[in-house]
Amino acid sequence: MTSDLSVDTPTFADLGLVDTLVERLNALGYETPTPIQARAIPTLLEGKDVVGLAQTGTGKTAAFALPILQKIDPKNTKTQAIVLAPTRELALQVCEAITTYAVNLPGIRVLPVYGGQGYGFQLQGLQRGAHIVVGTPGRVIDHLERGSLDLTALEFLVLDEADEMLNMGFAEDVERILADTPEYKQVALFSATMPKMIRSLAKKYLHDPVDIATPKATTSTATVRQRWIQVSHHHKLDALTRLLEVETGDGMIVFVRTKSATEELAEKLRARGYSAAALNGDLVQAQRERTVAQLKSGQIDLIIATDVAARGLDVERITHVINYDIPHDTEAYVHRIGRTGRAGRTGEAILFVTPRERRMLSAIEKVSGRPVEEMSVPSAEEVNERRTGRFAQAITSSMGSPQFHAFRTLVEEYASENDVSMTDVAAALAVMSQTDKEFFLRPDPPKKAARERDFEPRKKPAGFDRSDRLPAEGAAVYRVAVGKRHKIGPSAIVGALANEGSLKRSDFGKITIGQDHTLVELPADLPDAVFEALANTRISGKLIDLQPDSGPPIRRTREDRKGNPHPKKSHENRPYPSKAPDKGSYESKGSSSGKPARKPRHK
Ligand code: AMP
Repeated sequence: MTSDLSVDTPTFADLGLVDTLVERLNALGYETPTPIQARAIPTLLEGKDVVGLAQTGTGKTAAFALPILQKIDPKNTKTQAIVLAPTRELALQVCEAITTYAVNLPGIRVLPVYGGQGYGFQLQGLQRGAHIVVGTPGRVIDHLERGSLDLTALEFLVLDEADEMLNMGFAEDVERILADTPEYKQVALFSATMPKMIRSLAKKYLHDPVDIATPKATTSTATVRQRWIQVSHHHKLDALTRLLEVETGDGMIVFVRTKSATEELAEKLRARGYSAAALNGDLVQAQRERTVAQLKSGQIDLIIATDVAARGLDVERITHVINYDIPHDTEAYVHRIGRTGRAGRTGEAILFVTPRERRMLSAIEKVSGRPVEEMSVPSAEEVNERRTGRFAQAITSSMGSPQFHAFRTLVEEYASENDVSMTDVAAALAVMSQTDKEFFLRPDPPKKAARERDFEPRKKPAGFDRSDRLPAEGAAVYRVAVGKRHKIGPSAIVGALANEGSLKRSDFGKITIGQDHTLVELPADLPDAVFEALANTRISGKLIDLQPDSGPPIRRTREDRKGNPHPKKSHENRPYPSKAPDKGSYESKGSSSGKPARKPRHK
């Protein structure tokens, strides 16, 4: 491996950032700037406009937030920077990130303003003075019209996820804000795609912008099989340990984003019995070399590394590269997977993708040169099967041990003295050999019943009230388990589903909030991945439990009330007519994969 980590890689200090910010980034565990940061930070510090082609995950937030924080005058309480974001969630996320970066810069106030939240809090914040406002375009316009937001001292304007803003119908609002703010402000525009509209927006409102795109990389790793798994942040560790149990391999390298994450994950894996070590740029050279030597010799099987620390790592026994955190760009992906499939061997690359990172997956698929296959997190059943297999193998190999005959005599004596079967003795010895964790994983909970059953979207009965309109073409009604009781409004529903389930605002139809639940119109063919992504989503602390809605609640008949405490779901009970299931017309997601048919049928 290369010994000098600084080769080609600028540090945050090299980019011109002040010590307080560099120290903060170090404390956050950021090792080096991401490619977009390496190019955008110095350009923005120089005062130039920037057009950045970058999606979520590239580190674009810090790319604009750090120069803004460095240039802002905390003594001037007027709003000096505004960041426009397409959704409430992104606005909040950006606010949180800026606040995190600004920890060592006391006195800088960052305020989110977005639709769906009452004006009171936002007005108070604006009156008190916010150096940086992060908002959705519609609400920013509202504040400008009310006179509650003063942008006369604006120095910086950022358009974050510009293509999404335009997709969501904010083009006019964005243009108005660009036009109605001081002419000589610095503008940074970030977008995952560069359609014509964005180009012409940049041409019209930006001054001689510097174009920044992260370099496109291509793989030449024909010997590496590439797979990806959709997994939410809090399921990553479980997914990784299951993978480690079922994948057959030798040495493995697990990539994470930060130095601190290498230590944390290595520690968690060691606690679960794996021989794992962290590899990051904070380790002194001798320690790094020792860790790599241990991986080479098989003393350890798992290295948890950052991109920089693993650069050039050449260990033949690495059979797997696991991208626990998605890389910041495709080039890093190519470098990472190149750590396996070396010396003419084959290798495996597995990429964890959270719902918000799907765009980066598409970019990776483009450069990968080969299909990146989707896979699922191994099931409890698969893990248990492997454990059973390993148990049998361990018995067989122990029979060859030099101590075998001595123990055999002891066991025979024990069995005859205590009058127990050999099977019982063997089972007791197996228990003795166990750690205190359960040998078998508990079976995975069955997929939600409602997702398994065929689903019929609501149909219009005779005399149907016009106000209770049917879902639009291609849409269906879904139910989430939060309602008025949980003090939520439509924006909370849209926010949660859009953010966690990667849905677009245009995917949403009518939203009807009931006491305990809400009905939402969404595309009839929502992919399984959306349900999986939303499996643990909560609003106001309550699991939303997204389900296709099959009509109003089942009414109990008099008979049910008399004899049967569990009313059966009969079509006759329903005030809305529901056709008998027409199996042929339902789309089943390949029963061979064990996945249930769930999709609601198009209207
Ligand atoms: P973004 O693309 O701005 O949404 O950032 C994606 C993730 O990368 C966030 O969790 C950031 O905290 C993290 N991140 C940003 N810059 C760096 C860096 N230079 N090194 C490590 N992680 C980073």
